[in-house]
Amino acid sequence: MPQDPHAQPLERSPLGLTSDEFIASAKELAGVARPSALAAYRAFFRTGDVDAISLRNSESATREGWTLPVTRSLREESPEGEVVKFVTGVRGDRFWQAGLEDLEIESVLIPMISSSGARTYTLCVSSQVGCAMGCRFCETGQMGLIRSLTSAEIVAQWWNATHKIGIRPKNIVFMGMGEPMDNLDHVIQAISVLKDHNGPHMPVSQVTVSTVGRVDGIKRLGEKVREHGWHRLGLALSLNAPNDDDRSSIMPVNKRWNLAAVQEALLEWPRRTGNKVCIEYVLIPGVNDTRRHAEQIAEFMRPFGLLQGGRIAGKALMAILNLIPYNPRRHSPWPAPSEESVDQFLAWLIDLGVFAKRRRTKGREMMGACGQLGSEKIRGRKLVQATVSG
Ligand code: SAH
Ligand code: SF4
Repeated sequence: MPQDPHAQPLERSPLGLTSDEFIASAKELAGVARPSALAAYRAFFRTGDVDAISLRNSESATREGWTLPVTRSLREESPEGEVVKFVTGVRGDRFWQAGLEDLEIESVLIPMISSSGARTYTLCVSSQVGCAMGCRFCETGQMGLIRSLTSAEIVAQWWNATHKIGIRPKNIVFMGMGEPMDNLDHVIQAISVLKDHNGPHMPVSQVTVSTVGRVDGIKRLGEKVREHGWHRLGLALSLNAPNDDDRSSIMPVNKRWNLAAVQEALLEWPRRTGNKVCIEYVLIPGVNDTRRHAEQIAEFMRPFGLLQGGRIAGKALMAILNLIPYNPRRHSPWPAPSEESVDQFLAWLIDLGVFAKRRRTKGREMMGACGQLGSEKIRGRKLVQATVSG
């Protein structure tokens, strides 16, 4: 009988399984002994070898089903090196996504030059195709949610970067398409695989999960971070507006969890190891760029510690602010901010004692910058209304 092309792909792939889970599955499925399964798992992640194991007796576990194709890649020069955006092909759901059998997930490799002069890459991964949160400034938000990715599809982005594009990232940030807290089980499983010492072996301190401010998810992930081996996971919050009126007008999620609720959840985030929470602020002309906004940011950040005369006032600094110039989405009602206004806003923040840094814009030309990930083909077909539930 021919195999159903829509059968759950990657089901038995190492991409979605920790080494222990893979070993158990290989034994159960094809009677493979532990040493060969372990060797295959290591080879698959370390050298990209998909032929190291033969799982007998099982069609669904053939090696062809272990990886996903890179369907396109684009490169753009930036001052710190080449930015590489690549697209991984995944399957849609044949029952309710007519015309969307083939979905695309986008990932970006962003170069950084460290203080020692070495170039490293940060991989920005997607956790969903589209996003249900509907933030007005975000390209992905305009698509609505098509579907969440499985853990294997998330890890496939690391595998494709490392073994197909040929760039092994030092850091991973969940800042591509989608809201990780809306797909938390798969995000947690993906991180378990990424940090497996027989697999990608990413230090958990090099992984950051960015959220729109889903407080339920922040709390659940915080519980996980209290477990052994998870303490140093990074968290980023997309603040984007420092008062409830403005925030609700650009981020519908704020109507469900307001700034006070988000601030409380961040203060409860476990940081035994001194982890700082990263607060992201997309500067949008005419929306959130006045001196008053800068003052409100300082108020929001006061409980996390502010600087006085360049020194930390009171307790240790628990949060840092990342200022991101708005990258106009397609059909954007707002332009990008001018260089002067970004400099001015940063100067206000620093003057107010906020530990703030500016994020340089990379990959804007190819729509590979933050908030510009989204497929033109899929856009406009809002399959799931952009609403926030829960
Ligand atoms: N859903 C998560 C992670 C993906 S968005 C979140 O919202 O945090 C990743 C980052 O891109 C967020 O900080 C978001 O505020 C930012 N972003 C979205 N649209 C943007 C745009 N048009 N220009 C610049 N940054 C944008
Ligand atoms: Fe979703 Fe994040 Fe974009 Fe908001 S900013 S629509 S949460 S991807």
